[in-house]
Amino acid sequence: MSKMYIDIGGTKLRCELFLNDIILKEEVLSIEVNLIEYIEKKISKHNDINFIGISFAGQVDEGVILSSPNIKIEEKDIKSYIFKKYKIALKIENDLKCALIAERNYTDESNIAMLFVGTGLGSAVSDNGRIIRGEKNLACEIGHIPFKKAPFLCGCGKNNCIELFASGSGLEKWENYYDLPKFDLEELSASEDKNAKKIYKNFIEALLVAAGNIITLFNPKVLILGGGVVRANPYLLNVIKENIKNYALLQSCEDLNIIISKLKNSSLEGAKLL
Ligand SMILES: [Zn+2]
Repeated sequence: MSKMYIDIGGTKLRCELFLNDIILKEEVLSIEVNLIEYIEKKISKHNDINFIGISFAGQVDEGVILSSPNIKIEEKDIKSYIFKKYKIALKIENDLKCALIAERNYTDESNIAMLFVGTGLGSAVSDNGRIIRGEKNLACEIGHIPFKKAPFLCGCGKNNCIELFASGSGLEKWENYYDLPKFDLEELSASEDKNAKKIYKNFIEALLVAAGNIITLFNPKVLILGGGVVRANPYLLNVIKENIKNYALLQSCEDLNIIISKLKNSSLEGAKLL
């Protein structure tokens, strides 16, 4: 029997198919795929798939996609849809919670917070070993707390989400708004353009506010940073370490360990553990 694991973010879809002793890996751009169509194509090609695990960059509860600010989805009740049509078990979980499931296998700590900066800005928290989920598995959606008003909308429909300032998609929106080239974070910080400088300053400020809020609210022992933007800019670790005391309760910063995730793709690794 084969198993399929998918990690779908705002930019990329990564898939690993475990066909007995062969592992097939694939990476495609998210905007080029319809998730259901993608899954159905794989099922028709590999008809012995009996389990699908999905890490999803959006809000998910009990197999149903509640919202997906950075991914276009038509079939929201994905678990029932696949089960009714193919009798295949499917588990889908929020990508940050998947990442947390994977990361906690690599630490002895039980109070862990994660902050990932990729296409979006996400977090997840384990309190005494239990993942904080809330009523609809929506807990820790740090990207959608209010920060400042922006002249455009977040994928969630509001115009003041912190994700609009500290995420890959947010940077792109600001660069389009100011008609700037597609700068990465380093180019923004080095640029002489006053708007580029402003975007960079807001990014750092928003990142620190997000990290500070997580630390103050959840008092973790370890804060794990990850996501594409952090991986491309590992110096952000020091920016947070050096400034966090101005953004979080001082007592919560004592003995706090802030690190960058050692896993290459913790969300996909977490999907394999669903
Ligand atoms: Zn939002």
